[in-house]
Amino acid sequence: EVRVRFAPSPTGPLHIGGVRTALYNYLLARKLGGTMILRIEDTDQNRFVPGAEDYIRESLEWAGIELDESPWKGGPYAPYRQSERKPMYMQYALQLVESGHAYYAFDTAEELEEMRERLKAAKVATPQYNAITRATMKNSLTLPEDEVKKRLASGEAYVIRLKVPRKEEIRLKDMIRGWVMVHSSSIDDKVLMKSDGMPTYHLANIVDDHLMKITHVIRGEEWLPSAPLHVLLYRFLGWEDTMPEFAHLPLLLKPDGNGKLSKRDGDKFGFPVFPLEWTDPITGDKSMGYREKGFMPEAFVNFLAFLGWNPGTQQELFTMQELIEAFTVERIGKSGTKFDWQKARWFNEQYLRAKPDEELAQYLLKALEERNISCSLEKATKISGLMKERVTLPSDFWNEAVYFFEAPTTYSEKVASKKWNSQAVAVFTAFKDELGGLTEYNAESIKELLNTILERNAMKIGQVMQALRLAVTGLEAGPDLMQIIEIIGAAETKTRIEHAIE
Ligand code: GLU
Repeated sequence: EVRVRFAPSPTGPLHIGGVRTALYNYLLARKLGGTMILRIEDTDQNRFVPGAEDYIRESLEWAGIELDESPWKGGPYAPYRQSERKPMYMQYALQLVESGHAYYAFDTAEELEEMRERLKAAKVATPQYNAITRATMKNSLTLPEDEVKKRLASGEAYVIRLKVPRKEEIRLKDMIRGWVMVHSSSIDDKVLMKSDGMPTYHLANIVDDHLMKITHVIRGEEWLPSAPLHVLLYRFLGWEDTMPEFAHLPLLLKPDGNGKLSKRDGDKFGFPVFPLEWTDPITGDKSMGYREKGFMPEAFVNFLAFLGWNPGTQQELFTMQELIEAFTVERIGKSGTKFDWQKARWFNEQYLRAKPDEELAQYLLKALEERNISCSLEKATKISGLMKERVTLPSDFWNEAVYFFEAPTTYSEKVASKKWNSQAVAVFTAFKDELGGLTEYNAESIKELLNTILERNAMKIGQVMQALRLAVTGLEAGPDLMQIIEIIGAAETKTRIEHAIE
């Protein structure tokens, strides 16, 4: 049975990269009929941020990433919060001490600092507590046994460190990268158990993945350097046979490809649902998360899936179900993926367009209601249908359609000075006067009328179109003008043209 987990630390709002990790885990679980688990890794109490867990939960719910086992839902391996599992870890640390793979260390913060200074002075690039330096420190490998016992009995503060072998090639097979080889001399004797009795990430993570019977660990590339250490832990705990398979996802890069997308970029590129302010890098709009900006979860998920994976075909639009069917770890890329804000917008546009006009009308009606402007569902539906090729976010329906409800007061000088001549004015005058007389009033008959008048004046449609649009909408571009005039109505169009040419 396939069991995967998303294991965020509640150290702040969930970053978009975190949601991607959750999504890939979810896709694999669903694809293989497995189980999707969420475990909260909150052993580092210094970095705990209140509310972060709620953000995580809300983000995943919004994105439609379902959890089979979680702190909120429970499950056969509960609890799913590491802080609540605290009593479970010590035995494994002690097991490692007994088997000679870990040891007690009593060094104070000052002593550790001294060691680092000493090594730096000796031009050691990365000072480490390791196979060489541990011999000079205060630990159960250097102190006499009875002294160690005495210190422990007296309640002196200690940590438990992993005894990393001095010279060994550690190999691990990553599903995305193939064989990864690391020399043990580059790893230090990581603390497994802290002096407050809390396990560190490394120990808790391995113990829990083992106890929760995790089969695949899919996580960000930033964890690749820790993976050899985890392999050692599995081996020393005697769990090598059931060690999960690893897949380290490619980094998310800044839009310009310059470095990785950092947590700080989150302010710019957004959190899924968070009550944090961020700035739209294209429109400069200050708003909240993707959800608050009006992104559709389906579009967000589709966009996210493509940040590091592709189906190997031309198809870009995928429902969650289609993603599940198409998803394979083999098609996850090795190299970093640039965050592409335009693409995120593009996906949202596609999903907006696919909605029925009547549903889109609700966005517009809501904006109108907020402004105390009344409008029938029929009219709002027509406008929304006309606008939908031009909008990215639901809020654009109002922004782009203001002129349906408010007559323009200013006109672009550029167009007016070039196209607003006496000939055009003659056409406009006839047009606005005859508009009300049409027996059938619709875009087609309006266009016929305009053509008839143009013929009478020996003019071509291209000579007046832009100026007419300007008179009616105040803008230089927009959707089909005849349809706009149909929706605005003959009387209002007349008033607007009169105001424009007076
Ligand atoms: N708690 C780690 C994190 O915040 C989990 C890393 C892992 O998946 O092993 O990303």
